[in-house]
Amino acid sequence: MSQRITGIGASAGIAIAKAFRLENPALDVEKKVVENPAQEVERFQESIEKSKNELEAIKDHAEKELGEDKAAIFAAHLLVLQDPELIDNVKKKINEKNVNAEFALDEVTGMFISMFENMDNEYMKERAADIRDVRKRILAHLMGVEFNTPSMITDEVIIISDDLTPSDTAQLNRQFVKGFATDIGGRTSHSAIMARSMEIPSVVGTKTITDSVENGTIVIIDGIDGEVIIDPTEEERSTYEEKRNQFLEQKKEWAKLVNERTVTSDDVHVELAANIGTPKDLPGVLNNGAEGIGLYRTEFLYMNRDQLPTEEEQFEAYKEVLSQMEGKPVVIRTLDVGGDKELPYLNLPKELNPFLGYRAIRLCLDQQDIFRTQLRALLRASTLGNLKVMFPMIATLDEFRQAKAILMEEKEKLQSENVEVSDAIEIGMMVEIPSTAVMADIFAKEVDFFSIGTNDLIQYTMAADRMNEQVSYLYQPYNPAILRLVKSVIEAAHKEGKWAGMCGEMAGDEIAIPILLGLGLDEFSMSATSILPARSQLLKLSKETIASHIEAILEMDSDQKVKEYVQEHFLK
Ligand code: PEP
Ligand code: MG
Repeated sequence: MSQRITGIGASAGIAIAKAFRLENPALDVEKKVVENPAQEVERFQESIEKSKNELEAIKDHAEKELGEDKAAIFAAHLLVLQDPELIDNVKKKINEKNVNAEFALDEVTGMFISMFENMDNEYMKERAADIRDVRKRILAHLMGVEFNTPSMITDEVIIISDDLTPSDTAQLNRQFVKGFATDIGGRTSHSAIMARSMEIPSVVGTKTITDSVENGTIVIIDGIDGEVIIDPTEEERSTYEEKRNQFLEQKKEWAKLVNERTVTSDDVHVELAANIGTPKDLPGVLNNGAEGIGLYRTEFLYMNRDQLPTEEEQFEAYKEVLSQMEGKPVVIRTLDVGGDKELPYLNLPKELNPFLGYRAIRLCLDQQDIFRTQLRALLRASTLGNLKVMFPMIATLDEFRQAKAILMEEKEKLQSENVEVSDAIEIGMMVEIPSTAVMADIFAKEVDFFSIGTNDLIQYTMAADRMNEQVSYLYQPYNPAILRLVKSVIEAAHKEGKWAGMCGEMAGDEIAIPILLGLGLDEFSMSATSILPARSQLLKLSKETIASHIEAILEMDSDQKVKEYVQEHFLK
């Protein structure tokens, strides 16, 4: 009999495939002095052989099932395994330093990884990722642990896991991973956000999925309604195949709007922009008809690597985004690390409340080298498009002033070095901490724009961790408390002649969209895949009509009542 588990629909779509349980135990490498290096070398050689046999089997399988191009990644891994430079250096290290194989491997691969990562060449950077994957595979054999990482996936599967970190998600191979379901997480956890831009149907926050699914069981992911069906009957399978077809048909209808401007029925234009995490998301942005980029989360540039990205690497990434957007607005947010986005190489102490801790602008103002490198890269790229710089997690006016002053200092320095910098860069901030929403009238005098980050604004206003599925009922974008804050931010911006956007997930939510239009939001920035449905919705709405309902909505006493009201008046 099949089993049905409910969670939070994190990325729309239907996927049907067999389950792949992702287990990722820490492979902590310790340095040990060994008495018999020859034995260590032998152990190392055995792990290489085992890894090689494993990879060959995987490659053959992938070639047969999915074709040669999709198996190419495993051929690349095999090449790394056979690279004498790498293998010989590990052996040399074991022999010369009398250290254990794990340590020697970690050191040598670490050196190659940073070397490749520092090259200004995408191809070489990918080699760094290959080495990292191969290192994991060999280490697992050396340590005798069995585990599955995203890079070990060689079949069309649905990932089942307790959690997926943003860095796991970034490594998912879209060709193999058809969907995923996790125990923890909410709609605004970063893996959910990434799944939407990667168009991978997913359900998060199921609490129990890992207790209920075994490797290889057929699973259906319904990312539209947030359900997972385990071991479906024939009948259920065909019902969901039908649902998938309908979803694909609907997408085709939306696709007709790709080149349209977003103008409401009463002729009001609003900007529909996309949120991205990497230049790799650009095809999705362009295919979905975004009118700009409302949020580029640059922290992903800093992830899945062993050291900070250089100014040059960052410049290349910003250049690519700005030039591909061809003059359309591009809001690039400075490093917002912390919370669920960790950078292990910064060696920051573990915090009890990481979402309330040393992160984002707090870290950047404290570790200014990191911040200044990023700002220089941004400023240098500014002449290549329509750049707007945005600071995350601003809590006080002083923080905004300090961040802006550092940006200005770097601008002057560059100009004195005869580097051209645009004079038209707008400087804005995220409104995602309640203190700034409450004081928006004061901030509005000094910023060029606001972008409301509701993912955090809601978690901080409701005091409900966005990663914790036990309190996910408190993620209430339609709660009048949130709506009143949003209203005051938009009004404060307009009073000073500035624009207000929203880049939290709320901006793409079909219940929130009519209210935000009525409140006068200027820019809606969302996962690229939400743009066309949002456009289709906005074309039919009248801002003036909704505006006349806003007062009544803000007087309501619960999010549920707001939701029902919107459904009744604006969604039919
Ligand atoms: C937000 O907080 O709403 C936001 C857009 O930023 P992030 O999700 O990256 O925290
Ligand atoms: Mg945020």
